[in-house]
Amino acid sequence: MNVADSQRVSSSLEHLGYAFTPAAEDADVIVLNTCVVRQSAEDKAIGRLTSLRPLKERNPGLVINLMGCLVGVRGAKELRERLPFVDVFSPPSDPGPLISFLSQGESQAFESDATARRYALMDGDLLLPAHERGRLVSAHVPVVYGCSHACTFCIIPYQRGIERSRPVGDIVAEIRSLAEQGVKEITLLGQIVDRYGRDVPDGPSLAGLLRIVHDVEGIQRIRFLTSHPNYFSEDLMETVAELPRIMSHIEVPIQAGDDQVLINMKRGYTRKDYRALIDTIRMKIPDCSIATDIIVGFPGETEEQFMQTYKVLADLKLDVAHLARYSPREGTVSARRMVDDVPAPEKMRRFRVLEDLQEQVVSEINQRYLGRIEEVLFEEKVKDRWKGRTKTNKLVFLESEDDLRGQTLPVTIIWTGPWSMQAARLNQPALISL
Ligand code: SF4
Repeated sequence: MNVADSQRVSSSLEHLGYAFTPAAEDADVIVLNTCVVRQSAEDKAIGRLTSLRPLKERNPGLVINLMGCLVGVRGAKELRERLPFVDVFSPPSDPGPLISFLSQGESQAFESDATARRYALMDGDLLLPAHERGRLVSAHVPVVYGCSHACTFCIIPYQRGIERSRPVGDIVAEIRSLAEQGVKEITLLGQIVDRYGRDVPDGPSLAGLLRIVHDVEGIQRIRFLTSHPNYFSEDLMETVAELPRIMSHIEVPIQAGDDQVLINMKRGYTRKDYRALIDTIRMKIPDCSIATDIIVGFPGETEEQFMQTYKVLADLKLDVAHLARYSPREGTVSARRMVDDVPAPEKMRRFRVLEDLQEQVVSEINQRYLGRIEEVLFEEKVKDRWKGRTKTNKLVFLESEDDLRGQTLPVTIIWTGPWSMQAARLNQPALISL
């Protein structure tokens, strides 16, 4: 979501006539877009911001904009006192205050005027920065902002507000615009993306939206994330299975494998529900890859409860497990009402146990790809190898002197490891047109 927000800021600035520079020293405007989902991320953001202070002292005309979750959580007032050298504070997903400041020459934090809105929102006219136009292969498109779920550990609803679906017309216009600028793959984003449209009377569901987006010319691949076990409908599964441009990769977090921990997290489902969901996904979408998120060391999590999570992960054999050690975030229910009683070394031990398990599981899953022919969309060259993804989101590298950016090619998988694969071209490579 932050990548998508940054793209929006960048696009707004391009519309205003600014151009991207990779060097902070050369910039007239620096935007620091922050994530504070964990304390370490907040500390990093403040550290980076402090390191920009000498630049501002040398060049008082430099505009520094602090954007994102840090502003959403702390509020502009507190931050302004703490960081007086910052000119503009913007909440998540809103380039308005910066554009207002630049177009009027004065700070109007949170009070964007009509001009700023025109530049900042630009729905359907997402102009990629010049250095990405014709080069960016895969882009993110938010379809639902915010979240109304309020899991006890999560700070996102406090930062990004309640759930709001974007109008279909804006989403489709934006995807068309991205396709015209060379983008081949889009990922539809939402904190609970399957809830798309539920806040809009008579609007399409996510399955309906996927059907509409599927027809946009130039877009070869469509993904979506993140799903929630309670809202991933069979209609959605059938849509993924039916439409060739929707990729068979699902991100659906379990967070914990113990029912009491799930209640404490206020997730709204049980371990049994999650297992049943995975069985149904596998039945409806053959060859689907599945990713999950897990938090270890949630307040009160006993060894026995942790082992339930271990068992679920060992049994289900999922393609990806994003693991995190619990850290309390100020303002959340778990930080206010629960005791962070699992010691840090124990959290780390549990993390490592799951990490080792998952490495073994994924190694076995990936070995099944050995010798298979897979369609890979190539995105960029990293050193001398092209980097791309299978339909199932497996990372693939291929050595080639040709320019493969944006091409979908059938390749043979010749080596697999837990985190990536190596491919070779077929004897007579042919472009795949969907
Ligand atoms: S559903 Fe996701 S974004 Fe919403 S509160 Fe729960 S963890 Fe946070």
